[in-house]
Amino acid sequence: MTRIADLLAAGPTWSFEFFPPKTSEGMVSLIDTVEELSALKPDFVSVTYGAGGTTRSTTRDLVVKINQERAYPAMPHLTCVGHSRAELVSLLEDYRASGIHNVLALAGDPPTDGSPAVGDFTYASELVELVHEVDHFTVAVAAFPELHPRSVDRAEDRRHLVAKLATADFGMTQFFWDVDHYRVMVEELAEAGSTTPVLPGVMPFVNVAGTRRMSAMNNTAIPTWLEERLDAVDGDPEATRKLGVEVATDLVASLLELGVPGIHLYAMNRAQSITEIYDNLGIKPR
Ligand SMILES: Cc1cc2nc3c(=O)[nH]c(=O)nc-3n(C[C@H](O)[C@H](O)[C@H](O)COP(=O)(O)OP(=O)(O)OC[C@H]3O[C@@H](n4cnc5c(N)ncnc54)[C@H](O)[C@@H]3O)c2cc1C
Repeated sequence: MTRIADLLAAGPTWSFEFFPPKTSEGMVSLIDTVEELSALKPDFVSVTYGAGGTTRSTTRDLVVKINQERAYPAMPHLTCVGHSRAELVSLLEDYRASGIHNVLALAGDPPTDGSPAVGDFTYASELVELVHEVDHFTVAVAAFPELHPRSVDRAEDRRHLVAKLATADFGMTQFFWDVDHYRVMVEELAEAGSTTPVLPGVMPFVNVAGTRRMSAMNNTAIPTWLEERLDAVDGDPEATRKLGVEVATDLVASLLELGVPGIHLYAMNRAQSITEIYDNLGIKPR
């Protein structure tokens, strides 16, 4: 039984994030990716969850499979908005019975059509509380270096983040393009007395339009130099992927210099960019 909290204590950790594929071909390809990336001996991997439960069984099955077959733990993401308490208790009990001991507890986004979210939960902190009630899981929570898009202001965002981190074992960030956003957030958390480690999330992008769309959605500013470089590779998939690797490599190098508790790489179900980042930095599987 591996708890990520224990791995972090011996850190820095290296971890990868996957999403549950929509098709059987996507699943076959992901299984190959997992096989390839296992050679890098990650400390753990995580699998995203479709808000409101749209990937409930695929996330669950994938996490249980990786957890059973690999030497490292797989952590499910879990969102609470739109779920009843009973639904979440049943999923958490299933995880516990399946040997899963780590959970990333998230709010999730309310419905995009503007209809009110049904269910028993509004904020991630309520799910953290529920996860602790069900069992002694290691609990991770989300952090937004550039503030969560729904935050009223900086002070309010940090106040809620400090309170949430105090009840969790570690945090994981949204992606960012300028390491200063992460550095400043960590300083603000330390000034507020928070000692919970927060892993930076790094995304080696593969698509120009998707990068712009996701950055806008997540309140992630694209610096002018990156806008210009994205313009220059737009329409050339391999040049875009290579730029994604270059930008991610530079970010990881700067983060390691800061002395981060670990690096969480958004693998997006592909192995090539991740192995290239390892090669660029001379990171050897441990
Ligand atoms: C590493 C990472 C992984 C993610 N994985 C997924 C995934 O797998 N699936 C998915 O659907 N989404 C995922 N998300 C996105 C996330 O679900 C959304 O950003 C969601 O809108 C907020 O989730 P949260 O857990 O940060 O929410 P919260 O911590 O609840 O924060 C949401 C907003 O509410 C505010 N807030 C918090 N508590 C209070 C309070 N008591 N009173 C008033 N305001 C409050 C916060 O300041 C913030 O503005 C991920 C995000 C990250 C960073």
